[in-house]
Amino acid sequence: MRIGAKVISYDVIYHIRDAAKSNDQQLLAGADEAECLCMAILSEVTYQHETLQLLIDGQWVRSRSDKYLPVMNPATGTLMSRVPFALKEEADSAVASSHRAFEKWREVPLPERVQYLFRMKQVLEEHGEELARINTQNHGKTIAESRGDVRRTVENVEAAISAAYTLMKGEHLDQVAKGIDEETIKEPLGVFAIVCPFNFPLMVPFWFVPFALVLGCTLVVKPSEVTPLPMTFAAELLQRELKLPPGLLNIVHGSKEVVESLIAHPLVKGVTFVGSTPVGRHVYKLAGEYGKRSIVQAGAKNSLVVMPDAHMPSTIESCVSAFFGNAGQRCLAGANLIVVEAIHKEAREKLTKRSEAIRLGCGLDESAEMGPLVSENARKRVLQYIDKGQSEGAKIVLDGRKARVSGCERGYFLGPTIFDDVSVDMTIAKDEIFGPVANIIEVSNLDEAIDLINKGTDYGNASSIFTQNGRDAREFRRRVQAGNIGINVGVVAPMAFFPFGGMRESFFGVSHGQIDSVDFFTDRKIVISKWDHD
Ligand code: NAD
Repeated sequence: MRIGAKVISYDVIYHIRDAAKSNDQQLLAGADEAECLCMAILSEVTYQHETLQLLIDGQWVRSRSDKYLPVMNPATGTLMSRVPFALKEEADSAVASSHRAFEKWREVPLPERVQYLFRMKQVLEEHGEELARINTQNHGKTIAESRGDVRRTVENVEAAISAAYTLMKGEHLDQVAKGIDEETIKEPLGVFAIVCPFNFPLMVPFWFVPFALVLGCTLVVKPSEVTPLPMTFAAELLQRELKLPPGLLNIVHGSKEVVESLIAHPLVKGVTFVGSTPVGRHVYKLAGEYGKRSIVQAGAKNSLVVMPDAHMPSTIESCVSAFFGNAGQRCLAGANLIVVEAIHKEAREKLTKRSEAIRLGCGLDESAEMGPLVSENARKRVLQYIDKGQSEGAKIVLDGRKARVSGCERGYFLGPTIFDDVSVDMTIAKDEIFGPVANIIEVSNLDEAIDLINKGTDYGNASSIFTQNGRDAREFRRRVQAGNIGINVGVVAPMAFFPFGGMRESFFGVSHGQIDSVDFFTDRKIVISKWDHD
């Protein structure tokens, strides 16, 4: 965090805060005035704006739209801001500005573009705690989860820096025929639209932003209308502290209409979309219709398989994190827990006991282990699925509906919920619920588990096995139709220097996010030259 000219590391702030908590006068005496001020500021960090503005051509402008949505803090149910639904003309001027910026940015030598990313990493790190706090206040997730999101955000900038030189290099072959050489050159394509989901409001845009920028492309980012604050704040920071040339990174708000007008715009070369499967399918079709490139990463219904030889203590911890981390609102969240007969009772009892102990709370409370759902609508949707599960005959062994958080009575909380005796034909076993609900399904053996994963749902985002048997793990890895496979790992989140996987209804397209997007943002030119010698 920067206070005047002084940059103070968050380690120092936490050190002082802990000293203050334990009233350790000796430690407190070591804190200078700026550090104490910083500590006070920390508890106040928020992003309160009456109405969000659009970032177009380096200027924050008020949208002329009369359509808005409230932006809420889901832990307290209080209003934080309003997000406008930008007009088509506003989306058009964002694209025009990005296109003008592209004409200059593509001429900036790669080493200079890389320097921007070094500074981007530094700015994101310096303001990491503010970003995490805003992320938590807008999304609801715990502060520890938000700090993890910020780390992953920075990791994408680091991966883009380290990849830029190698991945932009072309190839050359001398003398493919007499006097003839042939080469490939990589070129940035132009303006791209980045469409984001609510659940990782900062990290997901950065699966694409640093890669596109360093490769010479320019962007119009459309944050989620439910959680627009973290990315808007990040854009403000980057614009102010990096002095990004106008138009390199524009921000427009809204939903369907603005996304559709971005895709349809003749100067937009492609779109990256991360979100639900029905919307993803629509975006993919629309992009195809307009002849645009698209990366579409979509919904999920992930299964975790527990074999009788699994190492139980670590399996249960991994399952708790997979099913209930981020309040179940992760595309990599566990949804179905497939247990082989012999381990069923033990797995259910241990998982239930551990999940009962999860401490719900407002995410900024450092001791909270799980935050609320993102919105009242999201909570209602999950409650409907819980009712559906009961009416279809599943047995509820842990009921999160009774959970309350004192002091946050207006928050959208729902505790961990576990169903047992779930069968594959039930709605709760097939649909993406996107909340803290675990369905236990018993099978007789690994073959049955794999069959259930591959045929029971249409999604193929992630799947994990817990076992000590290498042969079973290998079978699982080879046969399961999912893009991210975990072996004794519950949340299979690929590092930024690997692509983010996805198959079947969880992914449409060819290139994936993170490092894989390099090919997506660039094109290759093949050059054949002939020089005659007399
Ligand atoms: P969503 O599909 O409702 O919205 C995603 C984005 O699309 C938002 O920016 C929204 O404004 C826009 N949008 C909504 N309707 C549109 C339409 N008709 N046309 C064009 N754009 C439209 O998704 P969400 O609820 O924000 O996010 C949760 C979903 O995202 C879950 O399904 C989750 O699994 C998925 N997700 C997937 C991944 C992955 O990598 N596979 C990662 C994170 C989240």
